[in-house]
Amino acid sequence: MEKQPETLLTGRSSESANSNPVIECRNLWKIYGDRGAEAMEAIKKENIGKEEVLERFGGGVGVVDASFSVGEGEIFCIMGLSGSGKSTLVRHVNRLIDPTAGTVFIEGNDITAMNRAELRRTRAEKIGMVFQNMALLPHKSVRQNVAFSLELRGVDRKERNRIAERALEIVKLEKWGASYPDELSGGMQQRVGLARALAADPHILLMDEPFSALDPLIRRQLQDQFLELSVKMKKTTLFITHDLDEAIRIGHRIAIMKDGVLVQIGTPEDIVTKPADKYVADFVAGISRLHLVYAHTVMWSIGYFQKKYPEADLNGCPESSADEDLDSLIDVMVSTGAKFIRIMESGNCVGVVTQGALLRGIQGKEPDEE
Ligand code: ADP
Ligand code: MG
Repeated sequence: MEKQPETLLTGRSSESANSNPVIECRNLWKIYGDRGAEAMEAIKKENIGKEEVLERFGGGVGVVDASFSVGEGEIFCIMGLSGSGKSTLVRHVNRLIDPTAGTVFIEGNDITAMNRAELRRTRAEKIGMVFQNMALLPHKSVRQNVAFSLELRGVDRKERNRIAERALEIVKLEKWGASYPDELSGGMQQRVGLARALAADPHILLMDEPFSALDPLIRRQLQDQFLELSVKMKKTTLFITHDLDEAIRIGHRIAIMKDGVLVQIGTPEDIVTKPADKYVADFVAGISRLHLVYAHTVMWSIGYFQKKYPEADLNGCPESSADEDLDSLIDVMVSTGAKFIRIMESGNCVGVVTQGALLRGIQGKEPDEE
């Protein structure tokens, strides 16, 4: 097969209906190296690819025309293979790096236009960051580590210890405040890192693969804990991961990143049922749909059903709603022994899930595939 010419101008930007986004990136580009601006010109004029940018301008392409926004209380995941530009993208949000082009708004304020003092204040008051392998201060106790940002802010000892204890409770490490980091396992240290970010009480959490280095079991526990506390504390979170399972477990919406481009932004159900291209399709191929796909996706409309089964009598068939997932539809079908489930909306039957459609839905095929 002939190799397609590589191009960078394929970025697709999808927007949600966030009216007041907490984080907003608009047409963000990052080309590493001194000649980023020149490289961008060439990309726009000549539509050259990544390899050619590196060859001619000596700079790697990190992020390509990324636009997205994250709403209040939302967990927005960015998922992609290693090297796809996830860390580059998230570092723009607290301006650890400056974009080659584009803007980032934090609660409506352009962070790329802030002076040093404004930037320092925004970072300290609004944004917490958690990385993979959080470096804790080895000579400070766990409690002192968690309270450190408050100490820097001049909060008095009693108050900062109270806040630190509270943050340690949230991550279920309240018994470990007096210990030192090297007495804790890797997973516990990550939780201390999270507690440290929480102690500063930021509106926004940036989490760059915070659980990626941990064992699967601990990872799952931390994911659950994080979900629980993010609901409780109403944080707005940008969560980076290379693991689609994790993105699906955690994210309200997911952006899939490839070679610096956000190739698809959507809910977990969107991503799994309508992958935008082969890259996304390959990612989602092995994902279980049981808790991701809902009746509205697999049901037949009532008209189509009646055409196909003019003889069928729906009286006595069990009822369900359009937002029940495949897993609970299976329960209904198995426990009643029925072949059809009526999908009801405001007392009316809007569609029918047949046995065949349900099984096809689990496979990821069309409901009426023979
Ligand atoms: P990810 O976090 O998805 O693994 P990164 O954002 O770290 O990806 O990297 C994206 C691309 O940018 C890679 O090709 C990487 O080599 C390049 N890159 C990252 N940091 C730098 C840097 N400081 N200087 C030059 N190129 C970089
Ligand atoms: Mg990274």
